Amino acid sequence: MKNEFLKQVYSPDDFRKRGHRLVDELADHLSKQLNDPKAPALCWSPPSEALEYWTDFLAHGDERKLFPEIVKRTTNIHNPKYVGHQVAPTAPITALSAMTGSLLNNGMAVYEMGMAPSAIERVITDWLCSKLGYDAQSRGFLTSGGTLANLTALLSARKAKLTDDVWNNGHSNALGIMVCEEAHYCIDRAAKIMGLGEKGIIKIPAMSNYAMDISLLQDHYQKAQEKGIQIFAIVGSAPSTATGIYDNLRAIADFAKKHDLWFHVDGAHGGAAIFSEKYRHLLNGIQDSDSVVIDGHKMMMMPIITTALLFRNGKNAAATFSQKADYLLTQSDDEDWYNSGKRTFECTKTMMSIHWYTLLKTYGEGIFDQYLTPLFDLGRAFGARIESNPRFELAVRPVSNIVCFRFVDETLDNMALNAINVQIRLQLLEEGKFYLVQTQLRGKHYLRTTLMNPFTTMADLEALLHAIVAKAELMFPGNT
Ligand SMILES: *Cc1c(COP(=O)(O)O)cnc(C)c1O
Repeated sequence: MKNEFLKQVYSPDDFRKRGHRLVDELADHLSKQLNDPKAPALCWSPPSEALEYWTDFLAHGDERKLFPEIVKRTTNIHNPKYVGHQVAPTAPITALSAMTGSLLNNGMAVYEMGMAPSAIERVITDWLCSKLGYDAQSRGFLTSGGTLANLTALLSARKAKLTDDVWNNGHSNALGIMVCEEAHYCIDRAAKIMGLGEKGIIKIPAMSNYAMDISLLQDHYQKAQEKGIQIFAIVGSAPSTATGIYDNLRAIADFAKKHDLWFHVDGAHGGAAIFSEKYRHLLNGIQDSDSVVIDGHKMMMMPIITTALLFRNGKNAAATFSQKADYLLTQSDDEDWYNSGKRTFECTKTMMSIHWYTLLKTYGEGIFDQYLTPLFDLGRAFGARIESNPRFELAVRPVSNIVCFRFVDETLDNMALNAINVQIRLQLLEEGKFYLVQTQLRGKHYLRTTLMNPFTTMADLEALLHAIVAKAELMFPGNT
């Protein structure tokens, strides 16, 4: 009986039937999101209502409605009015590579558990390294997200730059890294995980445009040294998450070289600009970095979660976690790049390389330029539009596809403006037509948009500005 049940679970015919139906449903969803101007960016429901719905669905819902209901009750990244977090509207073909990976389910830690995807991973990371301007000594691997990749890079940096074997003996003297105050919070978290403590995170203040103030590097470095902190790495953001502003990588590279520091570039969001003829210059200096992170699931149209971590010197990639796990990892003298578990934090990981390879093989390298460049253009144009509108204030003139701004009114003080912008976003969220996010910068509450969808137009963004003003006018009818 039990056997019969599992036969049904694994039935190829059942899979075929359900699969065809699901692909039809998802294609309809995609078509609606891309083409129907009335399609909402999300159907907001408060956490308690969603919890109640899905608890009830498990007991009483119609099983055939499962996938359609999930699709209906969540956030629609493919909607052109989705201008929220930095997650890619996936190129639909990568949903197929994801399905392939999920069915094959190769574990990847060792070559034998992922022959095709391991070799493909080498092809992909070699290609990325060459795009960065690294030479033949470089190597990389794919890992589960920018957060984990940044931690891994800093562990590699510590291994490479310290003479003490901290990995085996722990560290007794104070260690530190340097990073701009605007960097993603995961750098902070990585440093804390590594035991550097608050004092080991040397935060370099940003300039008025939110990029690292290079002129302060030398002074902060010296002060840390005087306190007995041994700095081993410096991190540049490309760009920083909140504002989308790129640090001056060229200047950071020079500083790192002068002091023999590991130079890591957090290009989780905008490292993909290496593919843009027009915007590659924002990454000038990246070729002199020691390691780079690029998220495939942000500006490269891939499903969550796939991140490339690239090393100028492949030996450092291999040394990070030198540790024995005899049952899994045989010791070998040759490089054995194909056993990726030796280099990654994960043991099992998904067959993520096939997304990169599928895009590259199907559409060619040009797809990445064609995706990113117009979105950066649109971010800049949207910034200019906001700047010329007296009802709005721009946090900083955007250089990428991240744009932070807020509604302003000269009769209101900063506290009232913060409150009103919070309310505006909340109301837009509940309405669901647009999805945007928010951020606090220097005491001001901003609305934050990331333009991720290649079909978002200036007209969509104008409509967003109109909707914002309309909300504000309803809240403060006397003032506006
Ligand atoms: C998104 C982002 C991260 C975190 O990456 P995940 O893939 O979400 O873990 C790190 N740094 C920057 C600059 C980012 O934009």
